[in-house]
Amino acid sequence: MNPSAFVPEDGEVVLVVDDNESLRESLSEVLKSAGIRSVDAGSAHDALRLQAIHLPTVAVVDYRLPDGSGIELAHTIKERNPDTSVIILTGFATLDTAVDAVGQFDAYLIKPVAPQMFIRTVVNALAHRRLVAENGRLVERLEQVNAYQALHDPLTGLPNRALLDDRLRQALAGCQRTGLSVAVLFIDLDEFKVVNDLFGHQVGDHLLRNMAKRLADSCRQSDSVARFGGDEFIVVCPVKVSADACRIAAHLLETLAEPTTIEGVEHHITGSIGIAVTGSGAPQQSAETLLRDADTAMYRAKEAGRARWELFDNAMRARVMDRFEIERGLRNALEDGGLANAYQPLVDIQSGSLVGAEALVRWDRAGHGTLLPGSFLDVAEDSGLIVPIGTWVLDKALSDLAQWKAEGTVAERFRLWVNISPYQITVPQFPGLVRDLLDAHGVEPESLGLEILEQALVDMGASVKVLWELREMGVSLNLDDFGAGHSNLSWLRELPITGIKIDRQFVAGLGVQGNDRGPAIVSGLIKLCEALGLVVIGEGVETEAQANALSSMGCQLAQGYYFGYPERGFPIPRLRHTDRVETRTPST
Ligand code: C2E
Ligand code: MG
Ligand code: MG
Repeated sequence: MNPSAFVPEDGEVVLVVDDNESLRESLSEVLKSAGIRSVDAGSAHDALRLQAIHLPTVAVVDYRLPDGSGIELAHTIKERNPDTSVIILTGFATLDTAVDAVGQFDAYLIKPVAPQMFIRTVVNALAHRRLVAENGRLVERLEQVNAYQALHDPLTGLPNRALLDDRLRQALAGCQRTGLSVAVLFIDLDEFKVVNDLFGHQVGDHLLRNMAKRLADSCRQSDSVARFGGDEFIVVCPVKVSADACRIAAHLLETLAEPTTIEGVEHHITGSIGIAVTGSGAPQQSAETLLRDADTAMYRAKEAGRARWELFDNAMRARVMDRFEIERGLRNALEDGGLANAYQPLVDIQSGSLVGAEALVRWDRAGHGTLLPGSFLDVAEDSGLIVPIGTWVLDKALSDLAQWKAEGTVAERFRLWVNISPYQITVPQFPGLVRDLLDAHGVEPESLGLEILEQALVDMGASVKVLWELREMGVSLNLDDFGAGHSNLSWLRELPITGIKIDRQFVAGLGVQGNDRGPAIVSGLIKLCEALGLVVIGEGVETEAQANALSSMGCQLAQGYYFGYPERGFPIPRLRHTDRVETRTPST
């Protein structure tokens, strides 16, 4: 660096150490003329004392000192403050011996020192120190930024999950001292996905930032507001009683519900809040349980119609425990044989003869008797256990069928129907599994039918491929409970299904007097399916009148208590009623 362009800074001091007083003075003079502050010492002892007082940026140290070696002093100076640059002064006579040691320091000067050379070396050392210091500051800043980013959400600037976790634990520890409770508010924006889909992610992001700011502005400094996930936020606050948390939630809901205008469009977003408070029920809740409970309560708020709060209470806890116990029980049942298949006959209405059966899973739950699927299937679906359970049912059904075939109990055209859950058909390997099980039991695909809930086809996407593979294999596919959900007629045209089962609620209205439109729908559906080459099964037939009505409309197959209950073991129709059901000429 050019010394004339150098501007000294406050706090920059040069320490000059030499036993030659006149040299010290002249060097100090040179520094002074360049505006650089200096202090000088004639011995190592004095030098260290001055270092402690003035914290010099640069030390100029003579190689030889009366009370010791200059090199030793230079080392001590560096030890005490590694940020000090050291310049060694040495004479020609000592150069050879000094040169190794000198190499460890920032610079060296050979006596006699020309003033220009001296000032240039000192200025370079000072400039170098400044660069090092600036670099250090930048690194420190960068580390701060990295630390911040690791703990904050980049979109909203709110603490992220990791920091929330830490804050929640701190709050729990703090409340043990203060005797207050900790409330966790789990906030989920309602229908936020729709905004993203309709207006794009930029608008979605804008809204999220807006909502985050409103939440942060509505809470106290001592509360923590974090972004938990996509459109989920968490507020952690100390409260005296649960009612305080509910009041806070109500206030937050009002704040969120205020309209936001983005690019001239007014958006109305609401939130649903689940609240969990320590001490309300189980003592000593952990951060995880509080978050989980608040999440459960949030789902209740959604179920109850959104834009509201729900407080996690003992009834919810009991429900969670129930579901937990069901899940655990089902896992055990899968291992220790607690599951069973009941088979309900499927008959030809005309002849009353058995044409097939439907496998319906049962759970013999210790202490609870036999449970019907309605009381455990939703837990099985939520926990993913439905997949192994579905495989168990299919395996057992095929094994029973193989046995009946071997015993000669079933006719050639007998087909066994097994219900499958939407999860099963989203697994691409499912057709392979079906093929393996058929092979393992020596059953031909034509003897197997699968029932898929009509509901399951909503949002199915890729699994249509799975249906085609099954169909190509020769397995029959029926849409179950048709008419009960989002009945979509285009499915009848596009999907590789072989038939439908008309939902019970339509069958229930048959054979009774009244002006209900149900019978017209059933009759129309039967004609439609006939035209499409699809088989129709009437399910839930409980009375002779219903059986007759179905039959007169042209429905050939039926299932229901009237024909036989689901029973363990081979399905035997309750009655053969060829002589009782009106005879009609089959249309085909
Ligand atoms: P689903 O497939 O529609 O089966 C018919 C249900 O109606 C059975 O109930 C059956 O017992 C009952 N039912 C049969 N005839 C009559 C009748 O005349 N009147 C009345 N009121 N009900 C009748 P279940 O066994 O409780 O099964 C309920 C549902 O659980 C089944 O409805 C099916 O969707 C599902 N499910 C059963 N087993 C399995 C399985 O192994 N896997 C899967 N994913 N779902 C299954
Ligand atoms: Mg079924
Ligand atoms: Mg059904």
